[in-house]
Amino acid sequence: MTNQGIPGPKPVFFLVAAIHPREIVSAEIATRFVASLLANYGADPDVTWILDAHEVVVVPIANPDGHKLAEQGYMQRKNANTSYGGDCADPPEAGNHFGVDLNRNFAFQWGTVAKPTIGVCDQTFPGPTPASEPETRSLQALVESLYPGHTAPVVGEPVGEDTSGVLISLHSYAEKVLWPWGYTSDPPTDGPALQQLGERLAQFNGYTPQQAVRFYPTSGTIEDWAYGTLGVASYTIEIGPPPDRLNYCSGFMPPHECLDIANGVGFWGENAPALQYAARVARSPYGQPGGPQVRSVAVVSDTWPLLLTATLDGGQQPVLAAEAYIGKAPWDGGTPLALEPLDGAFDSPLEQAQLVVPWHGAPATAGTDQWVAGGGREPQNEPVLALVRGQNAAGTWGPMHAAWLSDGAGGGGDDQVFWTWLPLMLAPEEGPVYR
Ligand SMILES: [Zn+2]
Repeated sequence: MTNQGIPGPKPVFFLVAAIHPREIVSAEIATRFVASLLANYGADPDVTWILDAHEVVVVPIANPDGHKLAEQGYMQRKNANTSYGGDCADPPEAGNHFGVDLNRNFAFQWGTVAKPTIGVCDQTFPGPTPASEPETRSLQALVESLYPGHTAPVVGEPVGEDTSGVLISLHSYAEKVLWPWGYTSDPPTDGPALQQLGERLAQFNGYTPQQAVRFYPTSGTIEDWAYGTLGVASYTIEIGPPPDRLNYCSGFMPPHECLDIANGVGFWGENAPALQYAARVARSPYGQPGGPQVRSVAVVSDTWPLLLTATLDGGQQPVLAAEAYIGKAPWDGGTPLALEPLDGAFDSPLEQAQLVVPWHGAPATAGTDQWVAGGGREPQNEPVLALVRGQNAAGTWGPMHAAWLSDGAGGGGDDQVFWTWLPLMLAPEEGPVYR
C-alpha cells in the first residue's frame, strides 16, 4: 500500500502474520491494519502521511495450507508438507503433526538451535535444509525485493541511521516484543538501537521488550534472517496474555471478542499504535526512535494565519528544538519552520511549542512551492499536511507527526476553528494496557 501518485523509492514497513497458523489473532491484526490504513487515508493525517511517504507491505497469512488446518480447529503450527516422511499424527495434534516450522526454516544460522535431527513430527522441525520450503523462499525473495541495496551487517559496525526498513512478524501468545538475535545470547552490533525501537513499540502495547533469545533460543527465524542478511530492523510481536497469567484471552485460539475487549482496547487497540509507529520510523528505525516523541499536534485558528501547537516528549532528555514542514519533508527538499517554546526556552523533557503558520497573506515567507503537498494536493483546494518533529539534547531528531493544515474553506480564509487531534498515536501510560 502506498500513494502511487508520489514516486518512490520510499521506506518500507513489512508486516507478516500467521507464519504459525494456529496463532490466529496474528492474521486478524494484520488484516485490520490493512483495513485501517485504507479506511483512514485522506482523513487521519498520520495515516495519510504514512501512505504518501512510505510503502506498507503486508502478508496477512504466510502459511496458507497450515492455516486451512487451523481454521478447522487443529493446532497446526507448521506448514502441511508431508513429503519428508515420518509417521505424524493425522489429524494434527498440537505437539505432533506433519510439516516444517517455517519460522525455523529461514536461511540464516539455520539448524543451529532447532536441529533437523529433532524429528519430522516435532513442533519446531526446521526442514531438511535451509529455506527448503516454498513459503520460506517466497518470503525471502519478497523481503529482498523490498530492500534493494541492503547488505548484511558487519560485526562491530552499526548499520547506521540511514538504513531504512522495519519488519514485524506477528505471533501469539506471550505479550512480548522481541528483536534479534534468537540463535545466540550475544547481542548484535545494533543491539542498543534495536532495543530502543523495541522499547518504543512496547510502550504502546504494554508488552515485555527483550532480545528474542531471552524468551527462548530459536534459529532460522524470519527476524534473525532479515536483520542478519539485510540489516533490516526486525521484530516479533507476541500478542496475547502468556500462560502464567492465563485468562480467557490467552491461548492460540481466544474468543474473537478479545480483539476489541475493554472499550476498544484488546489486541487491536493495544497493537494498532505500535504498528503505526513502526511505519512512521521506517525511514530511520535505528535513529528516529531515539529522538523526542510528538505527543500531539493541533492546528487551531479562527483567522489567518493559522496557529499550530505541539507537545513534545524527550523522555529522559530535554527537548532542544522543534520544527514543522509544510507538505514536503526535509528529505524531499522541504523548508523547516521553527516552533517557539511556549515557556520561553527549550530546556526540559516535556515542552509545548507553537508556530504561527505563514500562509494566508504571507506567501513571501512561506514560499508557494512549500504548499504543494505530496500527491498533488494544493492548499487552494484541499488541506495539506504539516509535519512536526523534535530534537533532543543528543542532537537526534524524532519521528514526524502529521496534522492537517486547513482553513476549512478551500483556502478562502473564512473564519473557522479547525482542530486535528491524533488520539491513536498518543502513547499509553507506562505499563500494561490490557491483561
Ligand atoms: Zn509463533
